[in-house]
Amino acid sequence: MGYFEVAHTSVHRRCTSASFGCYSLEYCTKDVVVLLLAMGASKMKLSRTLGVACLLVCLILPAWAVAPPTVTLFVDASSAPRKIFHATLKIPASGGELTLYYPKWIPGEHAPDGPVVDLAGLKFFAGGKTLKWRRDLLDGFTIHVDVPAGESEVNAELDFLSPATFEAGFSAGSSATDKMAVISWNQVLLYPKGWKADELTYIASLKLPADWKYGTPLPITSTNAENGETEIKFQPAPLDTLVDSPVITGEFLKVVKLADDPLTEMDIAADSAAALDAPQEVWDHYKNLVGQTQKLFGAHHYRDYHFLLSLSDHVAHFGLEHHESDDSRVGERGLVDENERKMEADLLPHEYVHSWNGKYRRPADLATPDYQQPMQDDLLWVYEGLTNYLGTVLTARSGLLTQEQERDDLALTAAELDHTPGRTWRNLQDTADAAPELYFAPQAWHSWRRGTDFYEEDTLNWLWVDVIIRQQSKGAKSIDDFCHIFHGPPSTGPALKTYTFDDVVNALNQVVPYDWRGFWTERLTNHGPGAPLGGIEGSGWKVVYDEFPSEMDPGSREHYIDVAYSIGLELREDGTISDTTEGMPAALAGIGPGMKLIAVNGRQYSPDVLRAALKAGKGGTAPLELLVENTDYYKTYKVDYHGGERYPHLVRDESKPDLLTQIYNAK
Ligand SMILES: [Zn+2]
Repeated sequence: MGYFEVAHTSVHRRCTSASFGCYSLEYCTKDVVVLLLAMGASKMKLSRTLGVACLLVCLILPAWAVAPPTVTLFVDASSAPRKIFHATLKIPASGGELTLYYPKWIPGEHAPDGPVVDLAGLKFFAGGKTLKWRRDLLDGFTIHVDVPAGESEVNAELDFLSPATFEAGFSAGSSATDKMAVISWNQVLLYPKGWKADELTYIASLKLPADWKYGTPLPITSTNAENGETEIKFQPAPLDTLVDSPVITGEFLKVVKLADDPLTEMDIAADSAAALDAPQEVWDHYKNLVGQTQKLFGAHHYRDYHFLLSLSDHVAHFGLEHHESDDSRVGERGLVDENERKMEADLLPHEYVHSWNGKYRRPADLATPDYQQPMQDDLLWVYEGLTNYLGTVLTARSGLLTQEQERDDLALTAAELDHTPGRTWRNLQDTADAAPELYFAPQAWHSWRRGTDFYEEDTLNWLWVDVIIRQQSKGAKSIDDFCHIFHGPPSTGPALKTYTFDDVVNALNQVVPYDWRGFWTERLTNHGPGAPLGGIEGSGWKVVYDEFPSEMDPGSREHYIDVAYSIGLELREDGTISDTTEGMPAALAGIGPGMKLIAVNGRQYSPDVLRAALKAGKGGTAPLELLVENTDYYKTYKVDYHGGERYPHLVRDESKPDLLTQIYNAK
């Protein structure tokens, strides 16, 4: 997952049918009781003999008695513009209690953020009767249904209420407009307790609004179009594959083939036809991205790959990875506007890398068997951190950004981490350990609270790793060799190979022997206070500040003004202060997040007025006077600052070889 975090605006349990452990036992218990009673066992003896007998009977029961069920799912998305999705399910069941789950821990979102509050219209039927149900008192994502004896199937109805007004966030954020929608299967289904996600089979079908087209990596059995409405029948798929395979649909949808063998394409839905009319160089750069990524890893782990890209100002903006696709969402002009393209250039490279790093190779404690078991985020410094670094490398190698633009972006990353005083109390490891909560932290107090900084900080750290490999091997090896060993051949379909901290250290040592355990232990536990700049400096570059914002600076982005490295304010164009940096001039003067800048040195605030005042005050002695509104009260704060404007850049250190250019060069 990415984008929120990469924006500088700161923006098994396995029980096979032959085994008799946890889940299968639970399923066979009711059958055993019936069987034992039929055999004349008294109820008193029953409880004593049940344990042993269950094992015996489980062993002699035919395989069908414990075979994982096949669920039929129909989703009616024809009301997507109203932002409501209807679903019906047929779930095999037997008399007694049927426990169903609504997916809670969403893969790639690393948090228990399944949108259960948006689950509505929930009803269950069997044998022509409406069934009673109740939510579990300890887990709101668990539903218990009373199934009458003799029934073999439960029919369920549910609606998913997609956000009606704009909501940021991830896949549960705004996802539907008048012209397009993204369907995330986890939002429109339930699944029965007792099975791993890869054991349950789902036969899904989907009805689309009239004349809407679609794109998805999920294999299709047939499509049927009547009166303009399309109904798609998908091939039976394991639940984990279904949830991993969203559908993008819309009136304006463009398919651009990027590569054959395996088929790699972009399926782009937009709020207008004009938004799809990008210049040829854009498609050329994405073709380069596929080629450069294949070279980096030396193999792939998918059948086909679909970049599912949403272009809309009315959907949440983020990126979410899948094995055979990504769900990435940017503004409507995200492809046709050069400035917007630049600011979002590394989004698709990041999500594409995840097919290898995150989906194929995944931390063992993030690879949970279903969507209810909590995920542990401690290795996100590999899952997300390495992905973020490789995403920047591939953005440069593919030409999505020039090397100068990529260096400017890296300088911003270094500057942000170098001005994060929260590093003094929260180390890098804790930003990962606390990620399920930090993903939803407010922007205010970011520099002191810290957020999911493993994206940015590990871009610096994995660059450092790349530089050490190149130095230790005297230029013979690089991070590319690590990617070949860790993520590479042989090519496979979607597969999962889990890893631990030790596996990462061992693979690095296979590339070049070094104290990698010590390196990463130090990087994960130190408290700075400054940013880890060993990679940038070792690559022959250094961070400097001058009065000219780079073209990658958030100040050049609409609605933002960048005075973070001068007076320590994060400011929106309208004067709203989103954050202040503890220890820097604005905070020392008494200004805090949530206040609003009204005037600068007696003149009404505008970004130009503030920049001019910073420039005029350089080298002087008079304080910068800021009139600020705070909870209906106005106050003038005197900011003791005389350093002028300050924006970060990278400049060459001629005393060292230029490794960064080698890293960014296309292969
Ligand atoms: Zn990511």
